[in-house]
Amino acid sequence: MELVSVVRMPGDGIGPEVMHAACRVIEASGVKIHWIDAMLGKAAYDETGDTLPRATLEALRTHRVGLKGPTTTVQGGGLVSANVRMRMELGLYAGVRPAVAFEGIELARQGTHIIVFREGTEGFYAGIEDERVDGSILSSGVFTYDAMAQLARRAFGYARKHGHTRVIHAGKSNIIKRAFGTYERAFLAVAQDFPDIKAECMNIDALLALLVLKPQTVQVLVMENLFGDITSELCAGLVGGVGLVAGANYGDGGRAVFEAVHGTAPDIAGRGIANPTALILSGVMLLEHIGAVVEAQHVREALARTFRMGIGTGDLAVMKRTVNTENFASAVIEQLSFI
Ligand code: NAD
Repeated sequence: MELVSVVRMPGDGIGPEVMHAACRVIEASGVKIHWIDAMLGKAAYDETGDTLPRATLEALRTHRVGLKGPTTTVQGGGLVSANVRMRMELGLYAGVRPAVAFEGIELARQGTHIIVFREGTEGFYAGIEDERVDGSILSSGVFTYDAMAQLARRAFGYARKHGHTRVIHAGKSNIIKRAFGTYERAFLAVAQDFPDIKAECMNIDALLALLVLKPQTVQVLVMENLFGDITSELCAGLVGGVGLVAGANYGDGGRAVFEAVHGTAPDIAGRGIANPTALILSGVMLLEHIGAVVEAQHVREALARTFRMGIGTGDLAVMKRTVNTENFASAVIEQLSFI
């Protein structure tokens, strides 16, 4: 396989720690990657005055594939989210977040295997806000038929390829009728091309109850940006925590940025104890994307073996052997060498 260039953005907080560990594991799979290091987030802002510097954006446009750590976003003002800008600027419309339970993780609801497809460029996450003359805030969303249609097409295509039989669109069309009505129409129109897959529309509140009660019955989910953000964290909780859930942001023409679902974890940053699994699994999705399918399988299997042996980081609470970030990566690399 030829050398592939990947833009590497460690981000803030625990980002550099989990990035270092994840890259060790990805490289141990045998795939040769030419890393192009780039800045993103608060670290980038402090140095360049921009959370998403032009050089980083250009590198992503040129090389098309990126791996990123979490970035700090100041709550309620201040810095504009580098993630939101990046997804919009690069047209990364499909946020894909698989939450899959590993054997050996006691906190996980075994049998859970859920893939959340989150619209990445519009919805309530677009952050369109205005202050009205009376001082109240008007916060709006953007809902485009075509945006949902292209996301739904990916989700149904994914479901068919991976043998899933049920795809659910989660919205709130009983109350926010026109916006979610538009999304549902697009979803159901695309579903016509996939008669072998059961397509359903649910309200987000009903879906969340179903997820908590019977997560094993849920397979592929499609939803608006903000709902997808929240639901994927809930799904992370179902499989043992945010340290375990990968994410990918896909656009057209091979563009993709892979990132963990979790944030910068300021409470544990700098201590070397963060769980690198989410970013390792994001690396697995990256390997699949660049065609290194066998190597991706090997890394996933090495992770599964490590968890079955009861080895894990402190966030997983009840593992037999609690290790730090780097030692966890070493344990996975050791398992890789046996495959
Ligand atoms: P968070 O995900 O950073 O932390 C929530 C909890 O999960 C904390 O207790 C943390 O210690 C724990 N945690 C998270 N990742 C972990 C890991 N890999 N290993 C072990 N424990 C882990 O969420 P937050 O506290 O709401 O956000 C902190 C910052 O991160 C904020 O600035 C937020 O905007 C940002 N954020 C960024 C992204 C992203 O870049 N994709 C996503 C979410 C939040």
